[in-house]
Amino acid sequence: MTESPFDSYLAMVERVGALLRYDESTVGPLRAPKRSIIVSIPIEMDNGQVEVFTGYRVQYDTIRGPAKGGIRYHPAVTLDEVKALAAWMSVKCAVVDIPFGGAKGGVAVDPARLSLRELERLTRRYVAEIFDIIGPDRDIPAPDVGTNPQVMAWVMDTISMKRGYVEPGTVTGKPVPLGGSRGREEATARGLLYTVQAALRVPGLSLEGARVAIQGYGNVGGHAARLLHDGGARIIAVSDVRGGIHDPRGLDPQALHRHLGTTGSVVGFPGAAPITNADLLTLECDILVPAALEQQITEENADRVRARLIAEGANGPTTPDADAILRERGIFIIPDILCNAGGVVVSYFEWVQDRYGYFWKEEEVQARLAEKMQQAFDDVLTVANQHQVDMRTAAYAMGVSRIAEARRLRGLYG
Ligand code: GLU
Repeated sequence: MTESPFDSYLAMVERVGALLRYDESTVGPLRAPKRSIIVSIPIEMDNGQVEVFTGYRVQYDTIRGPAKGGIRYHPAVTLDEVKALAAWMSVKCAVVDIPFGGAKGGVAVDPARLSLRELERLTRRYVAEIFDIIGPDRDIPAPDVGTNPQVMAWVMDTISMKRGYVEPGTVTGKPVPLGGSRGREEATARGLLYTVQAALRVPGLSLEGARVAIQGYGNVGGHAARLLHDGGARIIAVSDVRGGIHDPRGLDPQALHRHLGTTGSVVGFPGAAPITNADLLTLECDILVPAALEQQITEENADRVRARLIAEGANGPTTPDADAILRERGIFIIPDILCNAGGVVVSYFEWVQDRYGYFWKEEEVQARLAEKMQQAFDDVLTVANQHQVDMRTAAYAMGVSRIAEARRLRGLYG
């Protein structure tokens, strides 16, 4: 049975709680978010009608620092999903050892259905509704599925106008001219590349000539295709919401980028055969990169996955049941909370640069990101070897133990 995304998180907490022999006083606080809010967002549409959308912001914890996490615009956004995404941010920030707790926000909306002006009004009103709980020392939003640097610019402007002074560190993933970090846009994909390079040393594969299939061609999948291709891999299949394309000889990400620019989809790319999103996941390849949404690899298809390595660009793409099947089949998985952490790592760098008011060169961002990702990968691998567990369990054990230790040191207030 496929559980909800938040149930998947809870299952991992129980698993590592048992592994680390934690008592109930340690596990209990990990099971619920610090704060969840639901807001109504009425906006005037271009036709003069008022439509009301529902928005969420969940702060999972602020144990190791301000809450941190993106804002998602997607029609299927629910409180359960945002809660899971916030919990994953919390563990992710601890895995890469950056001084943040976890948060996530979302609005149940299809952004493709809105005009640019409607999108701006939606963003400004959503931010106004959560204004009291966000800020550079409280909770720092960033982009996620369906949002982008322009949306983050509106977030920053709304907060700055309400405060009465410019506050760049209140949001990350902003455009560079507004205090964004160089290298932030491709950071998640670059972090993914670094973890793949680190993992390839383990199962003895090589990136040179490796056949890669990527589900999702947004910020993560699109940049990952280019970076993996530049690293010598052969991108044999990619997909987006409209469908996928397959060419065993390899796709050229640059030509694909131009095709996407003119048609709005990867579908119909000349010379490639069509493939469904479902079939892409079970394609024979060396590296599978799920980079779309949660719960794509399930108990229904896990026994047919033919990749040797899975690099989870998306958050929560594998259900716990599927995870068990893949584990048994010996497929090496770089779990989401490690694999896609490059985005929030460079968000952290952006926050640091905003606070200093001093900005780094792109090479410096990349070098520091490489160092962070390598360290996190090595830390997780050490835990995996120590406890004789898979990389996901090890990553959770690493993250959860850092959070639990910080909580123990702080003690209980009141
Ligand atoms: N949305 C990204 C994630 O899921 C980045 C979050 C951030 O930079 O705060 O990791």
